Amino acid sequence: MSLQGALIQVWIFALGLIIGSFLNVCIYRIPKKISLLWPASICIHCNKRIVWYDNIPVLSYLFLKGKCRHCNNKISVRYPIVETITGIVFLFLFHNIIIVNGYSLFTYSFYIILCCLLIIGSFIDLKLRIIPNEVTYNGLILAPIASLLCTGIHEFNGSLKYFGNSGNQWANSFLASLIGIFIAGGLIFLCGVIGKIVLKKDAMGFGDVKLMGVIGGFLGWKLAVATFFVAPFLGLLFGIPKLILKKGHVIPYGPFLSLAAFICILFKDFFIKIIDNYLDVYLNVFFLFVNTLCL
Ligand SMILES: [Zn+2]
Repeated sequence: MSLQGALIQVWIFALGLIIGSFLNVCIYRIPKKISLLWPASICIHCNKRIVWYDNIPVLSYLFLKGKCRHCNNKISVRYPIVETITGIVFLFLFHNIIIVNGYSLFTYSFYIILCCLLIIGSFIDLKLRIIPNEVTYNGLILAPIASLLCTGIHEFNGSLKYFGNSGNQWANSFLASLIGIFIAGGLIFLCGVIGKIVLKKDAMGFGDVKLMGVIGGFLGWKLAVATFFVAPFLGLLFGIPKLILKKGHVIPYGPFLSLAAFICILFKDFFIKIIDNYLDVYLNVFFLFVNTLCL
């Protein structure tokens, strides 16, 4: 890698850290219904304003050893974790979307918006076991609008093969996003209904249905279906140790859906190919069946 390339990636990571710092504000303030822009950051223990040099992502936390400069109370480790995760997401997507696939900065921003929503939703879900409507409704509105602005996106996501061939690229892209929302949301809603019948208790929150709708709206129905199948594996991977340690049996599902969606973005060609292959097999069997019946 050239020096210039390396420098750009350092900048992208730093940008991710700064945006991550803002996502922290969202995670703390959205459930409390406090404005995101005003007032400036304050310590939640002593209400003293946090000066700029104590507000540098990750570094300030390390420098202050995780304690407030004024009252010495602990600062949540969630802050540097969210910042670092956002930085890594920015970097990975930059590498995958721009360097490897050669897509535009516009496409990159499209995926970044989704990932930021997912990070906010996941960390609020981890903390409070809810995914606020401020996150999901905004996502459900943003997805079709972003699809209109970035019409190529659903072509990359392979969601136009079976639906949307009207010849108008804007109509196709908008439709692909709506179909994604309904198929993704519908899948997990159905899961919740079946779970409720079998387990006789609420198996899936409606927040998960809306979050999955957001994922479908941005990624199209194919990657949403892939996300739907990857998430339970991640759930088992992280959930089993938690169940063994008996740290409560309510496991928030939002973070697993989000992580699964991120994995599906990074390996989208692989997942789209699997879905296409399965679909072709099923459709062929189906038509063979119909033909035999008719003959
Ligand atoms: Zn303080």
